Amino acid sequence: MQRITIIGLGIIGSAWAQNLHADGLTVRGWNRSPKKFPFYEADLVKAVTDAEMVIIVVADPPAVESILNVIVPHLKPGQIVAQSSTISAHWTKLFAQRVEATGADFLEAPFTGSKPAAEARKTVFYLGGPLELVKKASPVLERLSSTRLHVGEIGTASSLKLAMNLNIALTMEALSESLTLARAEGIPDDKFFEALHCNVGRSGLSDLKEQKLKTGDYAPQFSLKHMNKDLRLVLETAGGVDLPAAKTLKSFYDKGMASGFSEDDFIGVIRLLGGVKTNQK
Ligand code: NAP
Repeated sequence: MQRITIIGLGIIGSAWAQNLHADGLTVRGWNRSPKKFPFYEADLVKAVTDAEMVIIVVADPPAVESILNVIVPHLKPGQIVAQSSTISAHWTKLFAQRVEATGADFLEAPFTGSKPAAEARKTVFYLGGPLELVKKASPVLERLSSTRLHVGEIGTASSLKLAMNLNIALTMEALSESLTLARAEGIPDDKFFEALHCNVGRSGLSDLKEQKLKTGDYAPQFSLKHMNKDLRLVLETAGGVDLPAAKTLKSFYDKGMASGFSEDDFIGVIRLLGGVKTNQK
């Protein structure tokens, strides 16, 4: 596959598009607000025309829906639409039906790994749909990722993705509260993380966010508004399952949104705990 279109040139889409462009593929990228990229195409219909694979990576279900409203009438059999925005199984199934009605294929392709992973081609994809389709899309996905996990039928990959993000949100909250307590007791951040490095509570997440927490760097790798959206989708998906900590955390993230932290990295909610100052020395 040579002709690839990326819809949504945000943190992740721009990194993926740049990597595919660097590989010499014919890349077209569309974004709701214009972007300065050599592969930028301002017309959404032109962007998908003749694309062998269209990757959608935008904010949320309404954003995906607004894109499908424009492109669905122009999709053709043989094209693959890979939907990578984090949405729920409910929305994924609805969107898959719309795309498949055109004769094009729909691949459910949410992912994990934030900005640094996307730039380093270390995204991890969770894939839902027929194995044949996964194999067909793999030559492109391999250029962007370290791992491609085929989860099962359409909907399963989104549910797994939401379960993984719930774990990340709760783990981050645990780390934030632990660090805040240590800071309040006058323990320097360097000593806190030195202890964490030889404690079972150390995690890939604590390693990823250590430097940002120490320096109070809230520039987004994965934004607070998207984690807030994911917690909403988690609770919608949970239905009758009781997730008490998820409910509490959602109201905490709502407070983060109301406090003006929506565009920051999701670690930014630590500021709501008080004792904000970093404490490196
Ligand atoms: P981002 O930087 O905030 O970019 C969001 C993109 O969605 C932008 O291109 C934005 O366009 C577009 N968009 C928003 N609302 C839209 C609408 N109504 N119609 C059309 N386009 C719309 O987000 P990101 O970090 O790249 O994340 C994209 C998706 O991947 C999200 O679903 C997120 O949850 C998921 N995800 C992200 C990460 C991560 O670490 N960053 C990891 C896993 C999953 P404008 O530029 O015009 O606003």
